[in-house]
Amino acid sequence: MNLIDHVVRFSGDIEQIRRDIHAHPELRFEERRTSDLVAQRLAEWGVAVTRGLGGTGVVGTLKRGTSGKSVGLRADMDALPIQEANDFPHRSTHAGKMHACGHDGHTAMLLGAARHLAAGASFDGTVHLIFQPAEEGGAGAQKMIDDGLFERFPCDAVFAMHNWPGLKVGEFGFAAGPMMASGNLFEIRVTGRGGHAALPHLGVDPVLTAVHIVQALQSIITRNKKPIDAAVLSVTIIKAGDATNVVPDGAFISGTVRTFDEPVTDLIESRMRQIAELTAQAHGATATVNFERYYPPTINDAEQAAFAAAVAEDVVGAAGVIRDVEPTMGSEDFSFMLRVRPGAYFWIGNGEGTHRAMGHGAGPCMLHNASYDFNDELLPIGATYWVRLAEKFLPR
Ligand SMILES: [Zn+2]
Ligand SMILES: [Zn+2]
Repeated sequence: MNLIDHVVRFSGDIEQIRRDIHAHPELRFEERRTSDLVAQRLAEWGVAVTRGLGGTGVVGTLKRGTSGKSVGLRADMDALPIQEANDFPHRSTHAGKMHACGHDGHTAMLLGAARHLAAGASFDGTVHLIFQPAEEGGAGAQKMIDDGLFERFPCDAVFAMHNWPGLKVGEFGFAAGPMMASGNLFEIRVTGRGGHAALPHLGVDPVLTAVHIVQALQSIITRNKKPIDAAVLSVTIIKAGDATNVVPDGAFISGTVRTFDEPVTDLIESRMRQIAELTAQAHGATATVNFERYYPPTINDAEQAAFAAAVAEDVVGAAGVIRDVEPTMGSEDFSFMLRVRPGAYFWIGNGEGTHRAMGHGAGPCMLHNASYDFNDELLPIGATYWVRLAEKFLPR
């Protein structure tokens, strides 16, 4: 591996920062301690700091030379509402909150890059280090854009790196095109007419109606969208009734839809409305559908994804670079930045979980798991990667 010596030398300090953030997780838009820490360190190292974008967001800016070119590197700072099951010394000290997605590591890797870039890396242009709040369901990236992120800090391209359990340490995964799915939620309210369960003919049963709707919804995936288009529709909540001898007045159905492009989402949403409303009508009931698109699909610019993969090849060698990694149906709010700027989102392997201390809780090392931990071996790799990307994007 081709790591920067200076980065390797101070990576113990970066590990301390990572573990400190891990021990003090903060939920979306509450990242006050974390953003204080980020801003303090950046200022210490001589990086110009701007605060307050999207609430707790921080942008560090470094300029060198005379070029008008610029690049944005993004890390996320927020934690999840999970009770940590690990018992190593840097486990969460905040009850019910945990860095279970590795955003502590993303923040630390970008800080590591900032320290080396500020200390005299060789580039010509402007690097914007974007530390965003609220990736986990808060659309913090969009909030920063709404606060003028790209007007105040113009970026010719933007990049984001996420750790990925299951990919080996020293491996990177890239895709040209879709990398993560859109995130959409739906809620269907069925209204019938309740009554005595022994006299169902006097009412309209919303439970039976809801069951028919749930079954029919899966036909959208198998019969309506093109087989070649990826999409998932999961009903995860059905609620109705309180007593065995009473037909309730209503039923509630909710769940998620994930796709890789908006026309497929449009098709699914319109078929869902038809199926819910007309199936309810066929049973003498009514149904209303609320469909919310909270994250668009994360779609890489092919040219920038190829560029980002070439940078990884310089750092970890060709054997460590997967250029056509299989996308996942999870979602990611960096998608908002990729809607308005060219760029790429990619994965850095977090390993198989052997990095975790003895005595960690049960379960695999997957993201959003109570036994997850970011792998500190990645810190010098990720920090080196960001420095090399900046140098290559802004050559002298
Ligand atoms: Zn997450
Ligand atoms: Zn994440």
